[in-house]
Amino acid sequence: MIPLVNVSRQYQRLAPDIDTAIKDVCVRGDFILGRAVTHFERAFADYVGVRHCIGVASGTDALHLILRALGVGPGDEVILPANTFIATAQAVWCCGADPILVDCDEQTATIDPAAVTRAITSRTKVVMPVHLYGQPADMDALLAIAREHGLRIVEDAAQAHGAAYRGRSCGSMAAAAGFSFYPGKNLGAYGDGGAVTTNDDGLAGHIRELRNWGSTVRYVHERMGFNSRLDTLQAAVLGVKLTHLDAWNGRRNAVAARYGEAIGSWRPAVTAIRQASWTTRHAYHLFVIRIPSGDRDRVVRAMQARGIGVGIHYPIAIHQQEAFRPLLRAQRDFPVTERLAGEVLSLPICGDIVDAEVATVIDELRRALDSADE
Ligand SMILES: *Cc1c(COP(=O)(O)O)cnc(C)c1O
Repeated sequence: MIPLVNVSRQYQRLAPDIDTAIKDVCVRGDFILGRAVTHFERAFADYVGVRHCIGVASGTDALHLILRALGVGPGDEVILPANTFIATAQAVWCCGADPILVDCDEQTATIDPAAVTRAITSRTKVVMPVHLYGQPADMDALLAIAREHGLRIVEDAAQAHGAAYRGRSCGSMAAAAGFSFYPGKNLGAYGDGGAVTTNDDGLAGHIRELRNWGSTVRYVHERMGFNSRLDTLQAAVLGVKLTHLDAWNGRRNAVAARYGEAIGSWRPAVTAIRQASWTTRHAYHLFVIRIPSGDRDRVVRAMQARGIGVGIHYPIAIHQQEAFRPLLRAQRDFPVTERLAGEVLSLPICGDIVDAEVATVIDELRRALDSADE
């Protein structure tokens, strides 16, 4: 069995440090907003290169609380890519605002800046690009659009811990960014977790209140809020893992290079999502290939039958989800996103996958493609 992400092997390699960190929290007993949260927030802010990191309960909450703190509410519109995990759109819905979907770029699968411009109305407040699969969206183009139209940008960096755009760290380029520490992410907790990063002192203070029932001083509540804190136990785990993140991302890049080399000669049966010229550090949260022949689902089944944990990110686009139907108005036509939904396949990748497993994945992919041809 070769899983998409081998979280169990990662734990076994780190066990002594993780066990100590967890035990320290249990002995101290500071389970809510304890010392490990403060330490991790400082370390992650430094890692991203921003003034503030605020630990929250999930990546979805990170995005939701940022939008709230920016004053986004009913009647406002937030533009985001149709090609993303549905949480990006649900974070907008959580504020009572309208998620406005736009199509993505065929080569990089990230939000298409020209489509953003076309979607702007007098109600648009925020543009929320996603650094999808660990690759930055085209931030310079988006920042220029935002400047011209007086909009804020919020980065969905849930898949992009450690990625960089033209030398600038994902999570440091806009008003604020939301990170997820869902276990399968490049930096994953042992449960749910998330963080906001920002250079804006006012926004940071506001989000610190929002995550804790609108309070920073116990029993004093100046505004309404939520219970959305990063657990101290999760922060302790994350603090240990953060020191390994660059090494894991390095390994992900090496594995991606190996996959890219192997399938490079199999065109046009298979292509890979391209690394953009602006991507100075790809986090390779996922290594995504396209199988344009219509055989994708057969290839997925064949590989899964051989114990290869391939995935599809994402099989049903947001605008095709039943849950989204009441929110859709004119937004129905996203040809690139729909093409991708039918063609993409994610190969196993993580910091702990070994060379022999990568070779097996490549062999099994070749075999599955050949049998699909017959
Ligand atoms: C994982 C993810 C989220 C949500 O993060 P959670 O921690 O699971 O709430 C949001 N956006 C994208 C692009 C994601 O991949």
